[in-house]
Amino acid sequence: MTNDVIIHDVVIVGAGLAGTWAAMTAAQQGVKDVAVLSKLHPLRSHSGAAQGGIAAALNNVRPVAGTGPRGPLEQIPEGDELVDSWELHMFDTIKGSDWLGDQDKIEVMVKDAIDILYQYEHMGCVFSRTPDGRIAQRRFGGHSAPRANYSADRTGHVLLHTIHEQALKHGVKFYPEWYVMDLIIEDNSVRGVVTLEVLTGEIRTIRAKAVMFATGGYGRAFKITSNAFANTGDGVAIAYDAGAPLMDMEFVQFHPTGLYRHGILMSEACRGEGGYLINKDGDHFMKKYAPDKMELAPRDLVSRSEQTEINEGRGVMEDGQGIYLDLRHLGAEKIMKRLPQIRELAINFAGVDPIEEPIPIQPTAHYSMGGIPTDVDGQVIADAEGTPIVGFFAGGEVACVSVHGANRLGTNSLLEASVFGRRAGHAIARFIKGGAELLPLTGDPAERNRRIVAELMDGDGRENVEDIAQELKSTMTQNCGIYRNEAQLKKALNDVKALQERFKSARVMDRSKRFNTDVLAALETKHLLTFSEVIVAGALNRTESRGAHARTDYPKRDDEAWMKHTIAHKSEDGTPRLSYKEVTVFWDRFPPQERKY
Ligand SMILES: Cc1cc2nc3c(=O)[nH]c(=O)nc-3n(C[C@H](O)[C@H](O)[C@H](O)COP(=O)(O)OP(=O)(O)OC[C@H]3O[C@@H](n4cnc5c(N)ncnc54)[C@H](O)[C@@H]3O)c2cc1C
Repeated sequence: MTNDVIIHDVVIVGAGLAGTWAAMTAAQQGVKDVAVLSKLHPLRSHSGAAQGGIAAALNNVRPVAGTGPRGPLEQIPEGDELVDSWELHMFDTIKGSDWLGDQDKIEVMVKDAIDILYQYEHMGCVFSRTPDGRIAQRRFGGHSAPRANYSADRTGHVLLHTIHEQALKHGVKFYPEWYVMDLIIEDNSVRGVVTLEVLTGEIRTIRAKAVMFATGGYGRAFKITSNAFANTGDGVAIAYDAGAPLMDMEFVQFHPTGLYRHGILMSEACRGEGGYLINKDGDHFMKKYAPDKMELAPRDLVSRSEQTEINEGRGVMEDGQGIYLDLRHLGAEKIMKRLPQIRELAINFAGVDPIEEPIPIQPTAHYSMGGIPTDVDGQVIADAEGTPIVGFFAGGEVACVSVHGANRLGTNSLLEASVFGRRAGHAIARFIKGGAELLPLTGDPAERNRRIVAELMDGDGRENVEDIAQELKSTMTQNCGIYRNEAQLKKALNDVKALQERFKSARVMDRSKRFNTDVLAALETKHLLTFSEVIVAGALNRTESRGAHARTDYPKRDDEAWMKHTIAHKSEDGTPRLSYKEVTVFWDRFPPQERKY
């Protein structure tokens, strides 16, 4: 056992796009000592799995005149009228958010979008291209112009590799496979983190002047999910336990096209390129639910439409729980060129070649709109009044700025992680160069965490961690899924609390120190149990339907009572204490409207 304390100026937890942008930018701005910790190899961060694209109104392509909303696209000739603008991107995002996104924050994101795309390009990112060499763009759900900039169906992969190389070039130090298990906040300012080095099992404190969480999303609280195994919401749970609030956690996005039974994502680019959704009768059922946008309506609406078809007995596959995604009419050439990875995944995991057969799909838990509240510079906010937690930053999917409100539009997340990661990097550099100090710690936080792990390994509990995790995922899926109501949510809350109790007697079987994945799984399960309670509590309290939060007992949006953000703090007895915060609205520019597609 070592008691060595490590010290850095800046510790960033998470090596996805948000964390790496922040690290690279802070280093570029002259901060010498920036460390990035990641429980995975950095290039295995979930950002690298993103497929479809990153939004920005670059105006490179437009629909061919007279061909309708699903027709072909062409590059915009030099000097011709433009079809897109940041204002239009802003409106689409606000409407997509069901008027819960903060409009001032959205404005910052869509304006920064254009510049950050060119920064990626200048760093050498390999985008797909138009015939004359501009960045290629495709359609995406809820966007009223083709503004998803892409690299085939491997966009996240190329973005992450590009920014990772830049971070290395600027001298950022990476700690791969270091698991952060605790955050130290005293007197409303951050002091450091406690880490478990996966390879050795050593638990150490790392002290820092600034800490940023960029730990990604929490889709793994659900049974069917597109998220990587690592997306267990550690960051939200750890921050909440350390006293930071969480915002809008009840808004969880279900993506309409996860591979049937696996949940593996079949990118929205499939529909962006012209794919259809059909039920067991061969009907293009979206014409009933979104006559204008059809398959390219936003995700909350398409997932609900699919679920309604399934619930009413028009699903496919033996249990009727699937829907077909049909790409056959796109033809082999387009599928091989634009969606090669999708084809590979469908063949390998479902035994279906999309060139010849429709792909069986179902809605899949995909994205976490909620998270740690921050301002536009990644500064974490302690309460509805905007008090900062000094030295604590967050960005990317773990954060809630909020730009996505109640429902995120596809391609806006790679954008958010990049834009607000970069902004956080600038803010961290200002904070450090402005004379931030390394503050002292009380006690030995590493020792406290060593006891938690020892208890898991050597305690006399008999509960199996995996059983608890599976039961949690079942109740969250059944009772806090696409559709919810009071009775279901009460059941979910009781289940989560009972599982939290059982977890107190959890024990892991593997007692070894090195690479003990049982211990990691136990810590992750504890995190799932912590934030799931916040999701359910927020959902139970919110007696309306908005974006991804659809209550069958309160089917209408209620702006009078509920156009506000949920803020949850952990109270003394461990349960979430909820309060609410106004949404920023530009009443003269984007007043609330009915959301139709
Ligand atoms: C399959 C899939 C496809 C997607 N496609 C798109 C798309 O086309 N366009 C789009 O805009 N969005 C897409 N998204 C969403 C988007 O990819 C993510 O929201 C975004 O990449 C999140 O980036 P991030 O930097 O916040 O976190 P991530 O990239 O998820 O990185 C999280 C990091 O935190 C680290 N970490 C987590 N917990 C700990 C801990 N306890 N200790 C240490 N390190 C920790 C991880 O190791 C990792 O490095 C997709 C998501 C999925 C799942």
